[in-house]
Amino acid sequence: PTLLSVEGLTKSYGGVHAVRGVSFELRAGEILALIGPNGAGKSTCFDMLNGQNIPDSGRIRVLGAETTGKKPRVIWRMGVGRTFQIAATFPTMTVRENVQVALVSHGQQLFNLWASTARHARDEAGRLLDLVGMGAYAERPCGELAYGDVKRLELAIALANQPKLLLMDEPTAGMAPRERVELMRLTARIAREQSIGVLFTEHDMDVVFEHADRILVLNRGTLIAEGSPEEVRGNA
Ligand code: ADP
Ligand code: ADP
Repeated sequence: PTLLSVEGLTKSYGGVHAVRGVSFELRAGEILALIGPNGAGKSTCFDMLNGQNIPDSGRIRVLGAETTGKKPRVIWRMGVGRTFQIAATFPTMTVRENVQVALVSHGQQLFNLWASTARHARDEAGRLLDLVGMGAYAERPCGELAYGDVKRLELAIALANQPKLLLMDEPTAGMAPRERVELMRLTARIAREQSIGVLFTEHDMDVVFEHADRILVLNRGTLIAEGSPEEVRGNA
């Protein structure tokens, strides 16, 4: 089934066509990489998908519902999660508390209302940390984590709202090669198990070719190639 449908997405800044007529689809459980040189329009596409930028024209639909031009918070509630390039975690709070904050602040206000549900948030945070292999770190201050572990924590936080679509803007930036592989394997496993569609940007072509099911190649705002890693590599 089609999870994300993008049709004719277009955005200009003055005379610069940042994104021009971009159309693609993403299925549940599929991992799609968006690649292209600096200035190709990757960030602009991402920002329009998560509501931080308004397209000039085109349509974005998630599970058939129109998200075009809606606010980030609304899009988030419609089942779109994201990770951030710069970690937005609280260093003096524990790893578990960081996930609890995400569960509470990201709109599951029920957790605020009843003491009994505070315990539910605690349990849910534990479940998410186990999912990303961070259960053993739950009670440690976040600031003591290695960078690769912060990235896994960010993934747990992005999953707090049980997204159907996960947007990851350069998820492996700044990581060691082995950590990159681990993070992407983990992401792929969770995506498959929970039928989450993942769209990610990435500079490391080894990561892209190994972990993407399909690749979109953007250049000067236009999609110039699309296909499996084998197909795209063959054309390169
Ligand atoms: P990428 O993420 O692939 O590096 P961007 O989406 O950041 O590409 O940029 C695409 C083009 O749009 C570039 O030419 C960039 O300079 C331009 N651009 C992006 N954002 C803005 C903005 N807020 N104002 C003006 N030009 C922008
Ligand atoms: P990256 O390619 O590493 O993701 P970008 O170079 O695309 O980073 O820039 C990140 C942010 O800066 C984006 O939000 C983008 O819209 C903005 N940006 C990029 N180019 C310009 C520009 N020429 N003028 C203003 N903002 C820009």
